[in-house]
Amino acid sequence: SIPLGFFGGIGLASKHGILVKGGNYLEALNQLDAIVFDKTGTLTEGKFKLREVKIYSDHSREQILKIAAEVEQFSNHPIAKSIIEAAGDYKQHSTKSNYQEISGAGIKAVLAGSEILAGNERLMQKNNISYQKSNSAGTEIYLAKNGKFLASIIISDQLKEDSRAAISDLKKLGIKSLSMLTGDNKETAKKVASKLNLDDFYAELLPDQKVEKVEELLTKFKKLAFVGDGINDAPVLARSDLGIAMGGLGSDAAIEAADVVLMTDEPSKIVTALKIAAKTKKLVW
Ligand code: ADP
Ligand code: MG
Repeated sequence: SIPLGFFGGIGLASKHGILVKGGNYLEALNQLDAIVFDKTGTLTEGKFKLREVKIYSDHSREQILKIAAEVEQFSNHPIAKSIIEAAGDYKQHSTKSNYQEISGAGIKAVLAGSEILAGNERLMQKNNISYQKSNSAGTEIYLAKNGKFLASIIISDQLKEDSRAAISDLKKLGIKSLSMLTGDNKETAKKVASKLNLDDFYAELLPDQKVEKVEELLTKFKKLAFVGDGINDAPVLARSDLGIAMGGLGSDAAIEAADVVLMTDEPSKIVTALKIAAKTKKLVW
């Protein structure tokens, strides 16, 4: 017979701002034993605040922020938005060429005849820049111009208000493994994972490596959900047993690839979804 409970469950979920794209996903929610979260924008706000500018060249703090903002203005990454905001009033260069946004690394572009690099250690290493790493906590964005290291900009994000409670509730509901994937550095990832009591974390992953990591985890668990929001998360959302997207700030690609969409971007909505799925199961006969 038709599992009427599933239709009821989908309706109930939607009243809670949870879009479930089919009854089979409610069933999958009931069988979950592992949940893997993306860090930025999923467990954290995805809004980075400027913490520190460390200058290793003959530039003022204002000049450094302007150079960074000029190159970041073409990017949609949350890091780019935060740097532009921190720079305030900056003059836009009309001559941009060879612009490359390198996933999991940063940006390389020629602005007004100078080659600018803005990104992480991987980007500096790939371009043979001798950069200096600081001990400051946070995400460090290194800036270079024409092969010379100029400065680093330290930014940091904060945990979403309900992330910690959500993880603890999911554990109580019997999810065996709660872990996190990120392209961000190990130090920042470790801090977030320990604050949230996650079972595991995997850092400094390129988008392809995120897919590989999830594929490896898929073999270890019965039913695995991945929760993410970014464009880069779409392949991982599609690959998981259950893809859950943050719909509010999420990219169109992520929303489309997902099986479940959380309209309000709160990790605690996953707890609600699990409870609704369990309730629905009882109504199916
Ligand atoms: P996450 O897994 O946290 O969503 P991404 O894979 O998007 O991270 O990015 C990983 C890292 O690559 C960032 O932490 C940053 O160091 C660097 N990066 C990515 N995009 C940019 C950018 N637009 N500007 C500077 N750095 C960037
Ligand atoms: Mg992301």
